[in-house]
Amino acid sequence: MSNVPPRHAPLVQFPVIDDCLQVGGIPLSRLAQRIGRTPFYAYDRRKITERIALLRRHLPAEIHLHYAMKANPMPAVVQHMASLVDGLDVASLAEMKVALDTPMSPGLISFAGPGKRDEELSCAIAAGIVLNMESEHEMERIAGLGNLLGICPKVAVRVNPDFELKSSSMKMGGGAKQFGVDAERVPAMLARIGKLGLDFEGFHIFSGSQNLKVTAIQEAHEKTLQLGMELAEHAPGPVRLLNIGGGFGVPYFPGDQALDLVPVGDNLGRLMGEVNRRLPEARVVIELGRYLVAEAGIYVCRVLERKESRGQIFLITDGGLHHHLAASGNFGQVIRKNFPVAVGNRLKGHERETVSVVGPLCTPLDLLADRMEMARAEDGDLIVVFQSGAYGLTASPTAFLSHPEPAEALV
Ligand SMILES: *Cc1c(COP(=O)(O)O)cnc(C)c1O
Repeated sequence: MSNVPPRHAPLVQFPVIDDCLQVGGIPLSRLAQRIGRTPFYAYDRRKITERIALLRRHLPAEIHLHYAMKANPMPAVVQHMASLVDGLDVASLAEMKVALDTPMSPGLISFAGPGKRDEELSCAIAAGIVLNMESEHEMERIAGLGNLLGICPKVAVRVNPDFELKSSSMKMGGGAKQFGVDAERVPAMLARIGKLGLDFEGFHIFSGSQNLKVTAIQEAHEKTLQLGMELAEHAPGPVRLLNIGGGFGVPYFPGDQALDLVPVGDNLGRLMGEVNRRLPEARVVIELGRYLVAEAGIYVCRVLERKESRGQIFLITDGGLHHHLAASGNFGQVIRKNFPVAVGNRLKGHERETVSVVGPLCTPLDLLADRMEMARAEDGDLIVVFQSGAYGLTASPTAFLSHPEPAEALV
């Protein structure tokens, strides 16, 4: 065991010129001038494109990639994404409307979520979107609404598997869950789908999020594909869709290592032989949110004041937890850890010091960096929080303390 404290994985996605971060090919200080105010989120279009190309290189060619929009529903991001992926997954009426504004074919858009309102179901049915049904009750409601509209709804069954995604920081399958239909109840539901005459597409099996462990992902893929093939024997028609979830993680905290896609892709390649044989009509889909956008995005705020208190230095900024809840450590973290944070317009700087970066809110929870080493910053400097392209703005309580909302730009 070494005594060297764990460090953040190296951040190589954005070049640095003259000690200033470049985002979308623009120096950060120039981008701040262009946007005209701080704080802001900036997403680098080329980084998103490269991330999808990386996945395509490592995953078997027959795997379809979907974007789970809740990770970042900014319309410009979704438009860009729609030209790169094979489908979109939405989780609300508002996301559905953004997805329907893209060139993506509605049959390649799916809608999941445990509590769908009639208005949302009707819109999806009319649009020809695939409804991932989360319960028997929802199935009956969908059939009823389909009759009212005179349209045959496209449906898939979201299955709550009888296993969990190990090492996942957010478990969304296995045990008792509000998501999906317990695997053992799915055969009876499939028989009912046949009776109701719904347009059966297939299965959606999503077991968890933010996983950095190759063996856990491999095991989940194997079990998920196996479960899909078993359930297919009870299906009212050929399985045309087998969505096996995603959950690929990104390194946020000291000690986290980027996910190695090579063994993940090799394992899937090995498993696909049997799937192609048993489910020849099935599109096998991996749906990813975070992995596609997190590393392409930064959150930027400005230092309003350098303050010293009993030997500690605080950089008080115009941004904070109301814009970026995850970086404050209050979005699903058990123990608070720092996101990678730096002074974006002077990355190395001349002098280094240990500081805490805080926001303007009257709560000690408003902390973006807790005693981190960075370049010595002055009033007006730009603080950057990396790995912020997913679950940033829309996962934050922007109304808390009624400060202005941040800007957003895709560059
Ligand atoms: C949230 C969610 C995703 C995306 O998860 P990431 O960890 O962001 O990749 C995918 N599918 C479903 C059903 C989800 O609820």
